Amino acid sequence: MTQPQRMSAPTLPTYSPRGLALLRDPLLNKGTGFTEQERDALGLRGFLPAGVMSMQAQAERILVNLRSLPSDLEKYVALNALHDRNEALFFRVVCDNIDEIQPLIYTPTVGLACQKYGLIFQRPRGLFISANDRGRIAEILANWPYRAKLIVVTDGERILGLGDLGANGMGIPVGKLSLYSACAGIHPEECLPVMLDVGTNNEELLNDAYYIGLRQKRITGAAYDAFVDEFMTAARAAFPGVLIQFEDFANHAAFKLLHKYRDDACVFNDDIQGTAAVALAGLFSALRINGGKLRDQTVLFLGAGEAATGIADLVVSAMMAEGLSEAEALRRNWLTDSRGLVIKGRENLHGHKLRYAHEQAPIGDFLTAIKTLKPTAIIGVAAVGGAFTPEVLQTMAELNERPIVFALSNPTSKAECSAEAAYRYTKGRALFACGSPYDPVRLDGKTFVPRQGNNSYIFPGVGLGAIATGARLVTDEMFMAAAHTLANCVTGADLEQGSLYPALPRIREVSALIGAAVAGVAYQNGLAAGPAPNDLLGFVESKMYDARY
Ligand code: NAD
Repeated sequence: MTQPQRMSAPTLPTYSPRGLALLRDPLLNKGTGFTEQERDALGLRGFLPAGVMSMQAQAERILVNLRSLPSDLEKYVALNALHDRNEALFFRVVCDNIDEIQPLIYTPTVGLACQKYGLIFQRPRGLFISANDRGRIAEILANWPYRAKLIVVTDGERILGLGDLGANGMGIPVGKLSLYSACAGIHPEECLPVMLDVGTNNEELLNDAYYIGLRQKRITGAAYDAFVDEFMTAARAAFPGVLIQFEDFANHAAFKLLHKYRDDACVFNDDIQGTAAVALAGLFSALRINGGKLRDQTVLFLGAGEAATGIADLVVSAMMAEGLSEAEALRRNWLTDSRGLVIKGRENLHGHKLRYAHEQAPIGDFLTAIKTLKPTAIIGVAAVGGAFTPEVLQTMAELNERPIVFALSNPTSKAECSAEAAYRYTKGRALFACGSPYDPVRLDGKTFVPRQGNNSYIFPGVGLGAIATGARLVTDEMFMAAAHTLANCVTGADLEQGSLYPALPRIREVSALIGAAVAGVAYQNGLAAGPAPNDLLGFVESKMYDARY
């Protein structure tokens, strides 16, 4: 009997633990799933009870236990513990029950988990690199025993809509990488979560006895830039060709980092670019229902940050692809921020908003902006819970036969409106997508099935395509291809029930298709490492990890 095999052999270490060490290695452990022969050959006799369980029986037992737990946070902790002891089983459970488990390992539960991270902290995962480690980041990366192909990195300053959670934000890269493996089959060993702990300005955390991070205010300015730059240089040297995804940076850093590195490193920012693609795909689906053209839409955003400008930029590109000039397309997209409508001449407008500062008299509140601009679509990405009031929704329904309403802010407490409100106040006419999961809504004899405009439809496939091809860069064209592919996965039956996205259990099929589309762009644009295969989809699928033993 041979040692249990790791899936992507060429990059992996050659050590072969036995006995207790094997049971303690989450990447190789099968627990009670080790066969009789394996128990003999691998020095496991005595460490396990006599019963040998199939992986399926183990997975069922996990689910029974999980469902008996009283709160989502406890379920998060239990799933994390499983992740720490048996990765294959963890991913089997996630993949086979994605509808039930994704909200527990990612949004919305991960938001609460990050807020309580110090309290629930058990085993560390990934790398914590603090501002005190300046000058020796390469040394720290060399401690990582695997060859990373994908890094998700955050500095914890804007965790979901919850703000600065400092080192507690590590829950986000960890959760996101779990989704990469579950949804697109990126091998867990190739995934590296990184927390750049530059301090926190969150007083509550600084005074929290259980806070896990550096107890100091954030470093800023040149010191911050040099720290991140040291990490970027060291990471690319330690793991040549690695894809680095920036995650939940505050918007001043997010735009700066993306623009600094995107033209010569394989990087992207999911909050900006992934969000854009998933929202654009939702718009394409909505237009299949109301028969409109993207070029004729007027889109009003609540929010003017990473998500809003990311979406608006991609919508502008897509409108231009339908024949509008850039000026015409820009004019059809409007942003509002905490100071009201973004307009020309307003003081202290940040760079990313300037494209959308149109000639217009000042408007302070969202409802007046709707009445004035008469948008066909409103997209909420400001993390202001309840901002789409009944009056906002009713007004959208007065202006449009089928108003497009996307309430994308996370977690659920920050959602602009619930699915129920969106349908009720538009008399069932809203074309609705949400950032958090909502149950189906029954109204006037019809059942609506709202689906999440969740980035997890996009980033796993984009990452898969980029990694499979060894892409040098991740481009906007790849996100545009991802948006079209996702929209094409939505069926007539989905649209019939008001769903603007495919069912989540199809996620691996969807990710493979997106991976193939992204790979196609990489090959066409000379960004890939080798020659193009004949069968792009088959090629991408052959790279996907399937958690089984
Ligand atoms: P951000 O900090 O970059 O931007 C937030 C924006 O909201 C800022 O422009 C701010 O001025 C504006 N804002 C604050 N208060 C406002 C108010 N009262 N009225 C109007 N605007 C106001 O954050 P972000 O990355 O853009 O994310 C925003 C939200 O969107 C978060 O809740 C995040 O979780 C969510 N989000 C969801 C998805 C998704 O579901 N697919 C993807 C990305 C982001």
